[in-house]
Amino acid sequence: AKDGGRNGYRCYDPSMRDRAMRMLAIQRGLQTALEDGSLSLHFQPKHHGDTGALVGAEALLRWCHPELGAVSPLEFIGVAERSGQIARLGEWVIREACRQLRDWHDRGLAPVRIAINLSPMQIQQPGLVQTAAGIVGAAGLQTSQIMFEVTESMAMRDAERTTAILQDFRAHGFEFAIDDFGTGYSSLAYLQKFQVRQLKIDQFFVQALDQGGHEPRAIIAAIIELAHTLGMEVVAEGVETQAQATALRALGCDQVQGYLLARPMPAAEFERRCLGAVHA
Ligand code: C2E
Ligand code: CA
Ligand code: CA
Ligand code: CA
Repeated sequence: AKDGGRNGYRCYDPSMRDRAMRMLAIQRGLQTALEDGSLSLHFQPKHHGDTGALVGAEALLRWCHPELGAVSPLEFIGVAERSGQIARLGEWVIREACRQLRDWHDRGLAPVRIAINLSPMQIQQPGLVQTAAGIVGAAGLQTSQIMFEVTESMAMRDAERTTAILQDFRAHGFEFAIDDFGTGYSSLAYLQKFQVRQLKIDQFFVQALDQGGHEPRAIIAAIIELAHTLGMEVVAEGVETQAQATALRALGCDQVQGYLLARPMPAAEFERRCLGAVHA
């Protein structure tokens, strides 16, 4: 823990040791996971707020560690960032999303745009845009079929640099969403400069809608108004109840995503439930 000993950690804290062992196990496991097929992508649909029509899907990384079992991406992405494995892991995600999208196209399934999450270190990675554009091109897809999501706090950390990076991506035809919006501190000037396509309202505000108070509603209304003024679409994520969906719709939210509509699911299930694929 940060508040530990003089050097910033306690040598004899067993929980510290457990955590270090777990981190090591994750790090080692990731090394082989990149080759042995134990990583996969799940897909969660994004729906049009009014019509309910499918507008896209977010790709979410899943991994089952041989000994630890299912590990949350929140945990193993963090490890990969610290161990320097994030570049390869991130490329795997882009390649796999493109492979899947290619497959759906080849089988005549309705086209969807896929959103891919980028971690803080990944977006700083020099040459990422060329790599991504190369992967998309090699799969015979257009860059406009892939969207990227970066969190608000990450985007604002070095907003000047983010502006340049996003501009580079846009020049290649990629669009962006600002994820977990409302939890960081946005500079409105930069929000405008980023020229992203979507703002994704953090689940925290969406779930607060159920408590019935006036505040969450007012905050969401303000975010939607701001986004629309800047020409952006608003996506609400973490929509779990009908009451939330109804409130969001009344507020003019463009897209909704969440367990109420569907949980993230394996590609085969997504095809069947969302793309109308018929399996023999
Ligand atoms: P995120 O990008 O904010 O993704 C939304 C998270 O909320 C996902 O968790 C999703 O499964 C979950 N979720 C969706 N609908 C609901 C709902 O109605 N209620 C609740 N309570 N949760 C909902 P997940 O899949 O565990 O991913 C966690 C985070 O890990 C993501 O947060 C993202 O930051 C990161 N992540 C996932 N896949 C990738 C990836 O391929 N690359 C990178 N860099 N990060 C990823
Ligand atoms: Ca996301
Ligand atoms: Ca989010
Ligand atoms: Ca999040």
